[in-house]
Amino acid sequence: MTISGAGHHIDSNTILFGVIGDPIRHSKSPIMMNRAFRETGINGVYAAFHITSGHVADFAAGVRAMGIRGVNVTIPHKLDIMSVLDHIDAGAAAIGAVNTIVNDNGRLIGYNTDGIGYVRSLKEEAESHLAGKRIVVIGAGGAARGILYALISEKPAHITISNRSIERATELAAAFRDKVDIEAVSNDSLQAACQQADIVINTTSVGMFPNTDETPIDAAWLKPGAVASDLIYNPLKTKFLQQAEQRGCRIHGGLGMFIYQGAYAFEYWTGQPAPAAAMRETVLASLQG
Ligand code: NAP
Repeated sequence: MTISGAGHHIDSNTILFGVIGDPIRHSKSPIMMNRAFRETGINGVYAAFHITSGHVADFAAGVRAMGIRGVNVTIPHKLDIMSVLDHIDAGAAAIGAVNTIVNDNGRLIGYNTDGIGYVRSLKEEAESHLAGKRIVVIGAGGAARGILYALISEKPAHITISNRSIERATELAAAFRDKVDIEAVSNDSLQAACQQADIVINTTSVGMFPNTDETPIDAAWLKPGAVASDLIYNPLKTKFLQQAEQRGCRIHGGLGMFIYQGAYAFEYWTGQPAPAAAMRETVLASLQG
């Protein structure tokens, strides 16, 4: 039997995977992951499950009962899923969020691949050496926490965080203060920090579809030649990135982070290298189509 759209031959040995979230029907993970299974010849199929708050524990019981091998977790369940897992990896525990579950014979283990996915993408696509760099992170939500955790292991010289609600930036800086030279600044001091930065990262949702005319900062604050990076991938090139490019900056969009968080999840589940180029091709075609 062939499942339309996935192209797999489903049989009695097919291994199940999926993503949970609310909402979930917009997710590009099923097309990306089913392409990865096709590409590698793995007899797996990946579906999207619309799980509402209050049903997360039931879902975890279903994963154990049905032997679903791997699950991705997206908004709003990255925190509440943690209480129903058997073990949380040290990185996910430090970040305080799980986006990937591995079912190891009924034992559910939680990982976070968002931050490492972002850093792999940044290093491959924009700046291979992060050691000694001055980095500005705009925003202090869940995604900012994951990428800060991963950035710190690259030994940057200094990190500045700024956020609309300054107290969230202050909290985040305090959480990582023992590992890196890090400070939280108000929006008033953001301009000066950007002028000195080698890399400026937008982790807020400012500029995301449908508000594509919005931008988190004035691109005139950026040093020409610096890297402007945006976690948003819809649109692929935000207004922030368009203006930074005109300013002479190197630009880095959010698509690579999405691909590599999925690639790391694939690698945890299967023990095989993920076909990242094919995964990117499929998602890109879907975004442009
Ligand atoms: P979140 O936890 O809800 O945090 C949202 C952040 O955006 C907060 O810092 C918030 O500031 C700020 N913000 C929202 N609206 C704003 C506005 N109008 N003006 C200024 N700041 C504003 O969300 P998240 O999970 O961190 O996600 C943030 C972004 O990253 C989203 O665009 C998401 O699509 C993207 N993302 C991309 C990937 C990928 O794979 N590429 C993965 C994860 C997330 P306050 O604290 O003041 O509210």
